[in-house]
Amino acid sequence: MINSEDTYDVAIAGAGPAGTSAAIHLATQGARVLLVEQKRFPRAKLCGEFISPECLRHFDRLGVADQMISAGATTLTQTVFYSRKGRSVNVPSEWFGANGRALGLSRSEMDQKLLERAKDAGVLVLEDTHASDLILDRGRVLGLRLKCGPESKDHHALVTVDATGRTRALARRLNRRRKQEHTGRYRLVAFKAHLENAQASEGACEIYFYPGGYGGLSSVEGGVSNFCFIASAKDVRRCGSDPEAVIRASVFLNSRAAYTLAHAHARTEWLSVSLEGFGRRKLVPAEGLLTIGDAAAFIDPFSGSGMLIALESGELAAQTITNQLERLRRNASFTPLAREYRLEYQKKFDSRLRICSLLRRAAFVPSLAEAAILFFGTSTRLRRRVARITRPSQNLETPPSSVR
Ligand SMILES: Cc1cc2nc3c(=O)[nH]c(=O)nc-3n(C[C@H](O)[C@H](O)[C@H](O)COP(=O)(O)OP(=O)(O)OC[C@H]3O[C@@H](n4cnc5c(N)ncnc54)[C@H](O)[C@@H]3O)c2cc1C
Repeated sequence: MINSEDTYDVAIAGAGPAGTSAAIHLATQGARVLLVEQKRFPRAKLCGEFISPECLRHFDRLGVADQMISAGATTLTQTVFYSRKGRSVNVPSEWFGANGRALGLSRSEMDQKLLERAKDAGVLVLEDTHASDLILDRGRVLGLRLKCGPESKDHHALVTVDATGRTRALARRLNRRRKQEHTGRYRLVAFKAHLENAQASEGACEIYFYPGGYGGLSSVEGGVSNFCFIASAKDVRRCGSDPEAVIRASVFLNSRAAYTLAHAHARTEWLSVSLEGFGRRKLVPAEGLLTIGDAAAFIDPFSGSGMLIALESGELAAQTITNQLERLRRNASFTPLAREYRLEYQKKFDSRLRICSLLRRAAFVPSLAEAAILFFGTSTRLRRRVARITRPSQNLETPPSSVR
C-alpha cells in the first residue's frame, strides 16, 4: 500500500487553520502529506477575524509569524464587552501572554499564508478539490475519494484527518452510512462583512450583546473593520434574511452598536451561515480517521479562541501521528494512536470547552449578559481569572520571537 504514488502517510481534508497546522507540522517531521481544499485560495471566510495572542506562538512555530504581520495585520490590545444598555467590561490582550498583542487579519490573508507555507514545507496541496467520500474497508478508513470537476480519484493514507470545519464532511459520511444524522432546524444564523466608517475604539475588539445574539467589531488590514454577528433564525426570517435589516432590528438594540455602526456601510458582500450547535464531537469517528479544529469541537465564537483551538488541535494531531507513524508504516494497529489522541485532547481542551459553554449560555440571555458584565466589572482579578481559564495553561511562556 505505501508504495503507490497515490498513497500518503496522512491525508487531510480542509485547509483552514486546523488542516494547515496539522499538515505543516507533519511535513516538517518528515511525513508524506496530502492536503485537499474544496475552494481556491485566497477566499473570504465567515469569521470574526480576531486572532488571539496565543496564536502568534503557533505562527512562530509554523514559520508564518512575519508573513502575518507583513500582510498588514492590525494590533488589538483589548476586547471590550458591551451590554445592551451600554455597560462595558474589558479584557486586555496582555492577559493571554505574547506581549499583549492580538491581531486583526482577514481569513483570506491568514489562510492563504498558511497554505503557502504548507506547500513550501512539502505538503501536496490540491485546491478546488472536494473530499467527497472516505475509502472504507470493513470499518477502517483507508483514505479519501476526491472529486475535481467531473473526475473522481482515490488517495490512500495510513491516517485520514477531517479538518473540514463545522460541517465535519467526512465524519458525517460515516453517520450517513450508519444512520441518518439528526439535523434539527437551525436556531442561529451568523453574518459577516468588512465595513467602512465603523467607529470602534482604536485597538479594540468590541463585542455587543442584544436579544437573540451578539456581534463583534474589530479592525483588519486595509483600513476596514470586520463586523461579524449572530442572530436568532427567527429574527433573521422576520427581516427577510437581509443582514442590514437584522442589524437595524436587533443589533441596534445595543446602544454602543447603534453608535459605532450608525454610518458604517459594507465594502464586501455579506456572508452568512446557519449554526447547528456547539461543543465536542467524536475525535476518532472510525479506525483510521481523526477529527481536528471545528470538526472535533465548535467553541462559541465570542471566546475568540476558535482559531487557536484549530491551530492547537492540528499540532496535537500531528504530534500524535508522528509518535505512531513508524508503527503504522509497519501495519500496526491504529488503537494506540486513537487512545493517545483522545487522552491528550481531553487533557488540553475539555475544561476550556466546558467553561466556554457556560459563558455562552449567559451570553444568549440578555438579563444574564447584563448582570455578568456588571458583576465582572467589579473585579479585575476575577475577570482575569475567568479569561485565563478559557485558555491554555502554558500561556505565559516566553513570547514568540516575532513580538519580542
Ligand atoms: C460567527 C463566527 C465568528 C467567529 N469568530 C472568530 C474569531 O473572531 N476568532 C477566532 O479565533 N475564531 C472565530 N470563529 C471560529 C473560527 O472561525 C473557527 O474555529 C476556525 O475557522 C476553525 O478552523 P478549522 O480549520 O477547523 O475549520 P475552517 O476554518 O472552517 O476550515 C475548513 C476548511 O475545509 C474546507 N472543506 C470543507 N469541506 C470540505 C470537503 N469536503 N473537501 C475539501 N475541503 C473541504 C472548507 O472550504 C474550509 O476551507 C468564529 C466562528 C463563527 C461561526
